[in-house]
Amino acid sequence: MRRLLIAGNWKMNMTNHEAVSLARQLKVKVLGVHRVDVLVCPPFTALTAVGEVLGDSEISLGAQNLHDRNSGAFTGEISGPMIRSAGAGWVILGHSERRQYFYDTDEWIHRKLLAALEAGLRPILCVGETLEEREAGKLESVLQRQIRGALGDMSTDLLKQVTVAYEPVWAIGTGVVATPEQAQEAHDMVRRMVAELDSAVARDLRLLYGGSVKGSNAAELLGQADIDGALVGGASLKAEDFGDIIAVAEGLVK
Ligand code: PEP
Repeated sequence: MRRLLIAGNWKMNMTNHEAVSLARQLKVKVLGVHRVDVLVCPPFTALTAVGEVLGDSEISLGAQNLHDRNSGAFTGEISGPMIRSAGAGWVILGHSERRQYFYDTDEWIHRKLLAALEAGLRPILCVGETLEEREAGKLESVLQRQIRGALGDMSTDLLKQVTVAYEPVWAIGTGVVATPEQAQEAHDMVRRMVAELDSAVARDLRLLYGGSVKGSNAAELLGQADIDGALVGGASLKAEDFGDIIAVAEGLVK
């Protein structure tokens, strides 16, 4: 049985003051939530402050990126051990905004994944196609390239620590959500691709959907057989909205 995970990607939002306030509100929202896992990924600058607020609450803490080296002359970068020392246990990797604006290639993402695992962080690998790629019939080939590029040649021990998020680029921050059928089709593809690498890992792999998830569409998405949670951008920035998604997820668990 795969446990649902609701993860919030705060992106480049929230000063420390704002982040602490949101974390305090979220802590209240998750009181009584025991059947789903909840994660927030603030910007690096707010990790420590948010971690202090969350304390030993049910909400886990993650970062949004890392550099694949542990230390060195890489001005402006942040390493896995630094993220760990800031109190985070998770990291989002290969988000489409990083692929699009910051030259994160599949090979680079693979190295970051290994670095994250080496540092004891649980990575969430993001994959997904652009509208152009979908319309050109390239959904499967794009997902295959991203999955193999990032996860190929990984041992079972490492692979089983990875979570994957399917995030169609055309649905991120646009208000256009994939239909449950479109999302399920892509999730099924991803699970089969991971099964080609390791069938036991694929069965237990947590596969999140990301792209304009809100309280009002969460139930039908999370109700799909291969959707094991959500990676939430915009709606994770307000405690009320994120809380609604968490409540829907909690209510779906039998
Ligand atoms: C995201 O950035 O990972 C995301 C899914 O954003 P949004 O929920 O705003 O579409």
